[in-house]
Amino acid sequence: MSLDTSTLYLVAAMVAAMLGAMLLFFGKQENIPALQWWGTAYLLGAASVALWTLSAEMLGPLLSLALNAVGFIACGMVWNASRVFHGRKPNLPGLVFGAIAWIGAVTTLPPDAHALRLTIGAGIVAIYAALTATELWYERRRTMQNRWPAIVVPVLHGFVLMLPILLGDLLHPRGDLFASSIWVTVFSIELVLYVVGTVFVIFMMVSERTVTAHKNAASVDPLTGMFNRRGFAEATSRVIEREAIAGRPVTVMIFDIDHFKSINDRFGHPAGDEILKLFATVVVNSLRITDLSGRVGGEEFAALLPCSLEEAVVVAERVREAFEGSGIVDDTGPVATTVSIGVAGGPAGTELEVLLAAADTALYQAKRNGRNRVEAAEELPLSLENWRRKTAGSMRSPQQAVEPRLA
Ligand code: GH3
Ligand code: MG
Ligand code: MG
Repeated sequence: MSLDTSTLYLVAAMVAAMLGAMLLFFGKQENIPALQWWGTAYLLGAASVALWTLSAEMLGPLLSLALNAVGFIACGMVWNASRVFHGRKPNLPGLVFGAIAWIGAVTTLPPDAHALRLTIGAGIVAIYAALTATELWYERRRTMQNRWPAIVVPVLHGFVLMLPILLGDLLHPRGDLFASSIWVTVFSIELVLYVVGTVFVIFMMVSERTVTAHKNAASVDPLTGMFNRRGFAEATSRVIEREAIAGRPVTVMIFDIDHFKSINDRFGHPAGDEILKLFATVVVNSLRITDLSGRVGGEEFAALLPCSLEEAVVVAERVREAFEGSGIVDDTGPVATTVSIGVAGGPAGTELEVLLAAADTALYQAKRNGRNRVEAAEELPLSLENWRRKTAGSMRSPQQAVEPRLA
């Protein structure tokens, strides 16, 4: 089988141009700057390869040097696209480094050193491919689950380009005939595969990011930025499982802002929202990084702490004091911002529902004992069923009192 190199390069250029236009269009439409970088890189690369393939003989040495430089800038842009995608700034010196190194090499090397030139060119592209792979490897959002294709594609690309450098001496001890060797064909085929493979990776990453964004939106409360009820339940069940395996106790607390309705009535709903945000800040600042918290209802919040009941009561007291002392005033004087807190802890492996039910009872006690206070649950329900029966009628409506809140 004979493969015509020029045709292969032209096909690669056309595929790259088409995908580049698609990335650019999609990037503009969805407002994803990284895709615009990628799209532009592909268009530039495609134009440079196509022009070079079609008219290499007609171009003067200067123009052909410029075309090659544009090709290397395109490689630099692919690397920068992966930086931008991960929220980093584009690296402009790095972007033009390859082009400058190439111009430097071509202008200083003797004109007949074709093999060396090709080797340097392949080396520059391989370095950019390695940088791109590194960028994806050190990706800071550790949530990306399928990172392997994102790394394997550029690494393979770099490897194919480096092969002739590694094997160069072996294949052509005298360094001749390089330009017409099998490697030129291999490169052109690899170029098509790389271009298509990278676009596959790009769309995989974009779609994963979109899914993550939607998932986060579904589990985060937009007002406070905390977990919402659903997010809190998901996150806590993971922590409870982990702590149960480690044999450590966990404690749950439920916060309910006192007389919140009257704050709304006096100052209006938007002011009420500000108080909710303030309380969220108080909670987050009072807890440790390993503790979880969320807004589980209108003016109700919850937290899960991997510690004993006694330690958690100290933390709850800290939240209560901080909120009371937040110093909100209006024209008529200080505004009372207080919170009642119910705390319940249990040995390793206690179910979340059991803890929440007990914390809810303690919260009810705190309200009944005058509000602005912390109450710890004296005992845990052995089972939710028994507990339901025992408490039915003695407190709020049984339904309200024992309904597992985050089930
Ligand atoms: P208690 O001390 O017994 O807890 O009294 P309370 O007034 O805090 O309790 P109640 O359950 O009667 O009222 C809660 C109020 O919270 C009623 C509702 O209008 C208000 N609320 C719920 N969600 C929001 C919200 O997102 N923003 C604002 N501003 N108010 C909210
Ligand atoms: Mg309430
Ligand atoms: Mg309340």
